[in-house]
Amino acid sequence: MILEPRLVKLTTRTGIEIRRTLPNARKRMIGAWAFVDHFGPTQQTDGMVVAAHPHTGLQTATWLFEGRIEHRDSIGTIQHIEPGQLNLMTAGHGISHSELSEAGPQSLHAVQLWIALPDSVREVSPAFEHISELPEVVLGRSTIKVFAGELLGVTAPTKLYSKLVGAELRIPAGTSLTLPVDSSFEHGVMPVQGDVTVNGTEVTQKLTEYLSPGAERIEITAGKDDVIAVLLGGEPFSEPIVMWWNFIARTHDEIVEQREQWNARDPRFGEFQDRIGGWIPAPDLPNVTLRSRN
Ligand code: MN
Repeated sequence: MILEPRLVKLTTRTGIEIRRTLPNARKRMIGAWAFVDHFGPTQQTDGMVVAAHPHTGLQTATWLFEGRIEHRDSIGTIQHIEPGQLNLMTAGHGISHSELSEAGPQSLHAVQLWIALPDSVREVSPAFEHISELPEVVLGRSTIKVFAGELLGVTAPTKLYSKLVGAELRIPAGTSLTLPVDSSFEHGVMPVQGDVTVNGTEVTQKLTEYLSPGAERIEITAGKDDVIAVLLGGEPFSEPIVMWWNFIARTHDEIVEQREQWNARDPRFGEFQDRIGGWIPAPDLPNVTLRSRN
């Protein structure tokens, strides 16, 4: 099943337009992966200028293909990230952060992913981890960098709370890569550069092929261009979640409370100097009760 991203203009100073693959009308989540935003590639040097905003109940995972971003947050982190590294922020009970892409010779090309936290841990204290050393496997002419979970016998040190996998795949033009995968997982394969076939289905760049649980291997063949693709997978997430704006909760009332707390600058979300100026207020809630849709 092909998942098409929708174009979304972010609430940022520069109003960058990104492609949002999850949540998707055809599939809300892939495992605990609840949100997939794909930025660029763009030469806009101020491609990402996102002032302070909050999160709850999730982890954010930032992965770059090109460019450089500075992350700042309310637990005191100031961290630059470059391609091949992972920024993992566990929001838990509450955190706020900002993201600022830095001018440089490279364009910005990145994904930002959210991971829903299971109910038992979604109130954990906020945490931030920068992982610069991630396992890499060369298979044939392809290179696989694993940033979450286990694949091809290597395991990323990324702290996770459910069974997940995440990897960047670089597959030269005209070659194939076969990955043995956990058959209890559902998967998505998103080529961010170049067209592919995934288990025989043609997938144009920037679309995502969704594979239900049961697949034991995924065969990806690059078309006429060199391919960069993202593999995401996980055990289907069994808990219904209520996701609104930057929050993942379980009920409408929790979202109402978190929204009010952020807009009142409640200490739940901490304080920091974001170097951008200002903070992003939560928008109005829709005039309906928010419900789980997964
Ligand atoms: Mn954020």
